[in-house]
Amino acid sequence: MREPLIATIGLGANLGDAQQAVQEAMQTIAAFDYCQLHAASPLYRSAPVDSSGPDYFNAVLQISTRLNAPDLLARLHQLERGAGRERPYRNAPRTLDLDILLYGAARIDSPTLTVPHPRMRQRAFVLRPLADIAPALVSAQELQAVSEQVIEKI
Ligand code: ADP
Ligand code: MG
Repeated sequence: MREPLIATIGLGANLGDAQQAVQEAMQTIAAFDYCQLHAASPLYRSAPVDSSGPDYFNAVLQISTRLNAPDLLARLHQLERGAGRERPYRNAPRTLDLDILLYGAARIDSPTLTVPHPRMRQRAFVLRPLADIAPALVSAQELQAVSEQVIEKI
């Protein structure tokens, strides 16, 4: 186990009871071993970006964790599978998507994990909830750049 650091996780879902899936996942992640809730954003509803199907529900969560990044990702994948996640094709609609957005200040570039998440700064459904809980991590210019994306706080 390592020293605790803050990991930032993006949650999204647009199939099944997507709102409940996101809310339950936030509670489950906050209760992971070696993890403590640091901050949870409000829930957002957004139109699909580079994807299809019904609107998404999204949120961003920060946990203080002693898990290393691959172990955290493995637990998030386990939770996705438990929610019935299937990957029929790239960017398909999904019952639950859990991404590691940031892992402390680490830069990770492995075949299975890229952190910071390479597309997080292009997505209103990441930047808006992230700005709610960690305003220092999102600039006004970045929010302006995604202001055309359709999203509302619930
Ligand atoms: P996406 O979230 O990009 O729509 P998936 O959820 O299907 O796609 O994830 C595909 C793969 O992306 C995962 O199996 C995982 O190994 C990899 N991956 C790379 N970087 C990350 C990250 N920061 N967070 C989550 N998954 C990641
Ligand atoms: Mg994902």
